[in-house]
Amino acid sequence: MNKPVMIVIVGPSGVGKTSVAQELLKLHKDIRYSISVTTRKLRKNELNGRDYYFLDVSTFKRWIKEDRFYEWAVVYGDYYGTPREPVDELLDKGYSVILDLDIQGALTMKSKREDVVTIFLSPPSIEELKKRLIERGDGMDTINRRIKEVEREMNEIGRFDWTVRNESLKDAVREVSAIIVKQGKLVG
Ligand code: 5GP
Repeated sequence: MNKPVMIVIVGPSGVGKTSVAQELLKLHKDIRYSISVTTRKLRKNELNGRDYYFLDVSTFKRWIKEDRFYEWAVVYGDYYGTPREPVDELLDKGYSVILDLDIQGALTMKSKREDVVTIFLSPPSIEELKKRLIERGDGMDTINRRIKEVEREMNEIGRFDWTVRNESLKDAVREVSAIIVKQGKLVG
């Protein structure tokens, strides 16, 4: 068996990180998803404890003080963080872990552990990205704010280990799978 790795997927909001992660989980039984903690509001179709752990700001701040996060960041005005304990437990049990993080979070994780591989998922176009954000029910204000961020994020591509273009979900999943297998062999 390959050694467990941490696979951090980054990329603009709405690019399809969640869909790619979900497909990977179906394909690889030895991979689990790191459920982040956030203070943002629950979206339609989201579940507490499945998509995120939704916390209030004061509890989140207490968790920071108690050093319960591998990393945390403020993204679009809300707190997000990777809780340490569940990730460590999964790795100890031999599972690889997928994390869906923003750019700062990915770079922090990369600097903390050498078993981290970072993958930047890029959108086929801005128009397509906007369409996906509308479809998942984000408000226009949020969408415009997030679209503005895209250009900045695209300039950061060079800081990640791999780039995968999410034109079709199937191809993107295939590419990411190949990277995971390769990386597992490298550290194994
Ligand atoms: P969303 O609100 O659309 O689910 O996520 C907004 C952004 O926060 C996305 O770029 C997502 O990758 C990032 N994010 C989600 N969880 C975490 C986390 O635990 N840490 C960091 N740094 N970013 C996160």
